[in-house]
Amino acid sequence: MLALAIGIYSIRKKKVIFPTFVLFMLYLFYAPVKWVFHAFSMNDLLVDEILVEIQNTVYLNKFKKQTERKVILLPQCLRSSECRARCDPLYGFICTKCGRCDVGEIMKEAEKRDFKVFVVPGSSFVKKIFKEYRPTSCIGVACPVELSESMQKTSVIPSQGVYLINDGCFETKVNVADVISKMELVSPIPNESVLKTITLSDLEKKGDV
Ligand code: SF4
Repeated sequence: MLALAIGIYSIRKKKVIFPTFVLFMLYLFYAPVKWVFHAFSMNDLLVDEILVEIQNTVYLNKFKKQTERKVILLPQCLRSSECRARCDPLYGFICTKCGRCDVGEIMKEAEKRDFKVFVVPGSSFVKKIFKEYRPTSCIGVACPVELSESMQKTSVIPSQGVYLINDGCFETKVNVADVISKMELVSPIPNESVLKTITLSDLEKKGDV
């Protein structure tokens, strides 16, 4: 309960204290703590959210330093019910960016920032991807329960978690801006104005020609 209280305090104050202690205790007593929440009709997802937020903070600096083989793991439930993507036995669903769901939008943004996106049908695919692709960092999108569990399992590489907006395992949603802001932590795209090509008329206005 002390670890839980510290975790809640850390999230409210946006300042994580004693992260190792909180993570250790909450993972160790995960089931009993969830049971207590359930018994008192409290939202037990708070436990998972605390775990994810603390993991995000703990791994933030290491995550920012990874520049190669960065991956984003998306759950297959984000796909539209009309999705026609082929499922590769090794890499999961191969999104064609048809525009029917947010996966395509995330793919486009990821390509700009050199992230590889995998739309995974299940945890067995995550193992295969880790073995074959050997990512150095990971952004995971899932519901809080799955995120807290998978972030513990994938703690060998620095990761950042983003929650789904809705639950239900069917046509779920994620805030695409949240996923982009995680990518921006390591691969920010310079402001368009900085990249704007200087034209002859710009120089003429400045009086340089
Ligand atoms: S954008 Fe990709 S994942 Fe979404 S429906 Fe189209 S092919 Fe499927």
